[in-house]
Amino acid sequence: MTYDLHIHSCLSPCGDNDMTVNNIVNMAALKELDVIALTDHNSSKNCPAFMKVAEEAGIKAIPGMEINTAEEIHAVCLFPTLDAAMDFDSYVFSMLPPVKNKPEIFGDQILVDENDEPIGTIDTLIITASGVSLSELPDLMKQYGGIFFPAHVDRSANSLLAIMGGVPEDVDFPFYELYHVGLYDEIMEKHPLLKYKPWLHNSDAHYLWDIAEPDRQLDKRIEEFLRMKKIL
Ligand SMILES: [Zn+2]
Ligand SMILES: [Zn+2]
Repeated sequence: MTYDLHIHSCLSPCGDNDMTVNNIVNMAALKELDVIALTDHNSSKNCPAFMKVAEEAGIKAIPGMEINTAEEIHAVCLFPTLDAAMDFDSYVFSMLPPVKNKPEIFGDQILVDENDEPIGTIDTLIITASGVSLSELPDLMKQYGGIFFPAHVDRSANSLLAIMGGVPEDVDFPFYELYHVGLYDEIMEKHPLLKYKPWLHNSDAHYLWDIAEPDRQLDKRIEEFLRMKKIL
């Protein structure tokens, strides 16, 4: 399966305003990706429109979120149903500090409908660290029926390896995301625990042209795991 399981919409302040749900789905369809996920920072609020548009386009879509944990670690959460994603969205929203977005500094946080029409904005800044710690995620995912994987573990900011200094032994995760695939050997040498887990390479697209090319196949172990969790 070709895939891109880490895409931001115009709801993420750092996401381009052209990252509307139709633009994302159409670009993924154009690239003939088999499965895509919408994963805005600390929010799933554009997922209802995203799921509708993807269904009409006949492309497999997963509702998700890229949570920013209390430790400032980014992790991508994926859910089997829109309801599960929206329940988790409500919980995470309640765990955000009451900091207002300043669109002129951080960017717009635009909610859209299935026609890409803006239907509102979120006033609370959604890119801050939430009150959810990394060690709580496994239990929370059990509770909400989702799964999570650490995002871009090799990046110097907001990543598991940069912030924890290594792979924590007390937090289990089924697979992880690499951003700089060329660094694989170097990372495995430093963090041999990761060798035993499958990984994936998403785009983390904030602009339409960043959406993944259909040149990556989802690791069979990840595909099976997602099917078992009814996410695929
Ligand atoms: Zn991130
Ligand atoms: Zn991201």
